[in-house]
Amino acid sequence: MNPSIRLENTYLTLPEEFYTAQLPSKVPSPNLVKWNSTLAKELGLDSDFFQSKEGVLVLSGNQVLEDTTPIAEAYAGHQFGYFTMLGDGRAVLLGEIVTKDEERYDIQLKGSGRTPYSRGGDGKATLGPMLREYIISEGMKGLGIPSTRSLAVLTTGETILRETTLPGAILVRVAKSHIRVGTFQFANQFLDTEELKALADYTIKRHYKEIFEKEEKYRHFLHEVVKKQAKLIAGWQLVGFIHGVMNTDNMVISGETIDYGPCAFMDTYHPETVFSSIDTEGRYAYQNQPKMASWDLARLAEALVPLLHDNMEKAIEIAQEEINQFSNLYLTFWYDGMRKKLGLFHENEMDEDLIRALLGLMVKYEADYTNTFRDLTLNQTTQPNLISSTEYQQWLDLWQDRRKQQEESLDDSRKLMESVNPTVIPRNHRVEEALERAVTNQDYSAMDSLVSVLQNPYDYENLNDYYVTPPGETACGYRTFCGT
Ligand code: AMP
Ligand code: MG
Repeated sequence: MNPSIRLENTYLTLPEEFYTAQLPSKVPSPNLVKWNSTLAKELGLDSDFFQSKEGVLVLSGNQVLEDTTPIAEAYAGHQFGYFTMLGDGRAVLLGEIVTKDEERYDIQLKGSGRTPYSRGGDGKATLGPMLREYIISEGMKGLGIPSTRSLAVLTTGETILRETTLPGAILVRVAKSHIRVGTFQFANQFLDTEELKALADYTIKRHYKEIFEKEEKYRHFLHEVVKKQAKLIAGWQLVGFIHGVMNTDNMVISGETIDYGPCAFMDTYHPETVFSSIDTEGRYAYQNQPKMASWDLARLAEALVPLLHDNMEKAIEIAQEEINQFSNLYLTFWYDGMRKKLGLFHENEMDEDLIRALLGLMVKYEADYTNTFRDLTLNQTTQPNLISSTEYQQWLDLWQDRRKQQEESLDDSRKLMESVNPTVIPRNHRVEEALERAVTNQDYSAMDSLVSVLQNPYDYENLNDYYVTPPGETACGYRTFCGT
């Protein structure tokens, strides 16, 4: 077998408590149903090999590449506020691939069977949720938001028992790493300071190497992670993405979006929107995402306290100072993004009012989030409630005046808007339709079209009504479920 790839596993240089060597379970009849040839190319992988019978054996975990040590990673986490020991309960890290640009990526099989961290679970995944992760993660990539990627989905030939019986599947996930806030919590809670330090040093070298030689490097590290998350969450808010399960085990230190279980994009704008069926309190509602990110980061800061200063009080002070910066960092990224969405190049003290007024009208008139900004970009109003609103007409006048006061031309302003206001997002009804056809009829054509459109969401040359139209009234109360 010559797949011409070499997998490393630098994670094995960490103290052994951080992982367990774990082979993926063998599956009866692996079948490759989705292969991401674009991503394969970026990673320098040989698509012909991986689509062959031998390649599928590797992707399904039935055969492990020579000289590799697959592992399951240990981590803990706060789930809906409660601390628990977790770990890869249904995933195995095959190894790390280094691209020709010297970028290192984890190649992980999700749904590959039980591990020592499975607790009561079967270690398996089902086809619908894995395809859903594929669609939405690739959609996020198209939108320009940092995300783990999906290299492949395979069916396993197994039948998995959930509320009904479902086809078993494996997702081949690619991530800058799977080091989570929860990995640091695990180290802080269950290991010694030396081991925590080893994890921090490893993580800094892998993701923030420019600060490794700095004085107070752990403080800088915390600062950089806070900044990266502030930018990421602003990115989510700006496109109306609701993650749904922002537990500390689902926040990765690299700053990528990870774990596409109950996530969904908002259609009608409302700050309190929640899709996840298990989020009964609305803890992870759209408007709470920045606050919850800050909460998660405070857990990271706590875990890092032993490294921040020899004096505990001083260490806590440092942690607090860094966490306190989240809110301003986030707002700066968000206002910056909102200004661009409105075609505004420079800051003006009136912007906050202008932006807040628009959002207020969107709530009042139940406007579609994406299409409101798309309409502004195209200089049109398609939404029935907004068309008949004089308040909205007045707002439009104010906005146009503000745009005209800029030195930059209206044409440049429109181009700026085109570059940040998606015309298509993974709309829930289109995602469901694609999944239904794939899972029930083994017909992947709708999914292929959707994924292909989502690769160019800022393409204003080829407008495609089918993917732009919001769902009808019947879609109200759309619910998502964790991908187990
Ligand atoms: P998630 O909700 O996907 O973030 O998973 C939370 C935790 O539950 C992680 O430790 C997972 O590995 C574990 N988990 C989720 N589903 C399963 C399953 N079917 N079997 C074993 N562990 C699981
Ligand atoms: Mg998770």
